[in-house]
Amino acid sequence: MSVQDVIVIGAGAAGLMAAGQAASAGAKVLLLEKKEKPGRKIAISGKGRCNLTNAENVSDFIHNYPGNGRFLNGILREFDNVRLREFFSHYGVESKVERGGRVFPVSDDAEAVVHALLQFIDEVGVELKTNQTVEEILTKEGQVAGVKLTNNSIIKAESIIVCTGGSSYPGTGSTGDGYRFAKELGHHLISPRASLVPLKTAEKWVSEVQGLSLRNVEASLWYSGKKQRTEFGEMLFTHFGVSGPIILTLSRWAGEALQQGEKVELHINLKPALTSEQLDLRLQRDFQKFSNKQFKNALDELLPQSLIPVIIQLSQIPPDRVIHQVTREERKHLVQILQGLKLTVLGTLPIASAIVTAGGVDVKEINPKTLASKLFPGLYWAGEVVDVDGVTGGYNLQAAFAMGYRAGRAAAEYVRAGV
Ligand SMILES: Cc1cc2nc3c(=O)[nH]c(=O)nc-3n(C[C@H](O)[C@H](O)[C@H](O)COP(=O)(O)OP(=O)(O)OC[C@H]3O[C@@H](n4cnc5c(N)ncnc54)[C@H](O)[C@@H]3O)c2cc1C
Repeated sequence: MSVQDVIVIGAGAAGLMAAGQAASAGAKVLLLEKKEKPGRKIAISGKGRCNLTNAENVSDFIHNYPGNGRFLNGILREFDNVRLREFFSHYGVESKVERGGRVFPVSDDAEAVVHALLQFIDEVGVELKTNQTVEEILTKEGQVAGVKLTNNSIIKAESIIVCTGGSSYPGTGSTGDGYRFAKELGHHLISPRASLVPLKTAEKWVSEVQGLSLRNVEASLWYSGKKQRTEFGEMLFTHFGVSGPIILTLSRWAGEALQQGEKVELHINLKPALTSEQLDLRLQRDFQKFSNKQFKNALDELLPQSLIPVIIQLSQIPPDRVIHQVTREERKHLVQILQGLKLTVLGTLPIASAIVTAGGVDVKEINPKTLASKLFPGLYWAGEVVDVDGVTGGYNLQAAFAMGYRAGRAAAEYVRAGV
């Protein structure tokens, strides 16, 4: 039976960083990963390009974590986006900034990020064991004592860092095991739910425009009789509803509102740069130009082709109506549709299809300075297993890396202090 200073459970973003940092700080570290290969979620992140952080000023960072941003404040400042980019640069992964401050490897290769982390842990002497599933965290006299694997072997350790991720994309290994460990140890769990997830909508016409991607549009989420949130950017129609960055961002609140029994709607403004008066003037100009055309042939300059039949149907203006016969009221109604295309939200896709899992181990029971459990000395939580979640743009990986950094350092200090 081997005895370790620190056992890290899960070789994802948080676990690889935590293990490397604990070892850099002098601890004897064993990193246990249930899958055959480490870092599988990193490898598919950012559509295989890995949006590893965001270039935004770190003081603006916490606003991008609807799930407990304030809890992360100190941690994100310690291992911020600048340090993170320097870290990867040191291991040969230079990065570049794209639209919205999104940071990607210059190589556009997520595997390069995994390789960098593997090089790091190797260099500092972490022992990595794959195909090893932790079944249980063992405790003795109120302290962590080690882990039991599914093959029944027991490994003793002074400190344990749980980095098992959430429960989305379970094929990458994150199947919610950390939530079970938390419950077994008496930690409270904020119920895990899907975030950054496509939305299912009721309207049949959506499937007719599946594949259509819209840029520079505004989507607003409506419930409790008022507009709750608005996002500007890119969205996509699918066979079941809507997806794309602005929808994923709104999904967290849509899901919560639906859980609370609210009737949830999305209103899409296809022309957000114009006021309704300006759009009406634009329509008047177009209608003058095409005054002898049929309505169905007069929208080509205004809308993507596949959306035209949908808008015509919703406007209730007969498609064959000659433009100069379209009434002022009909035109005004058209303006309303173009700036408030309504979709009824039926639900989110399941948690398995979500980019991140919101909810997780309650931050009230975790020390924000060290990520130590307030219940068991020697126990640390890092990454998506904790009740933190960010919007799209590199925030979730930045949080996982920064939490891994802090927990790794803190666990090594705990061991060194010889408690
Ligand atoms: C498709 C997709 C794209 C994404 N793109 C981005 C992006 O571009 N930018 C961004 O910031 N975020 C992105 N995210 C989110 C981001 O990848 C995660 O938030 C982040 O990887 C979480 O890191 P983690 O280390 O906490 O967990 P994970 O990366 O999920 O790692 C957990 C690890 O623990 C292992 N494990 C679990 N249970 C056990 C056990 N019992 N024993 C041993 N090992 C175990 C798992 O196998 C896994 O390797 C994306 C997510 C998805 C699904």
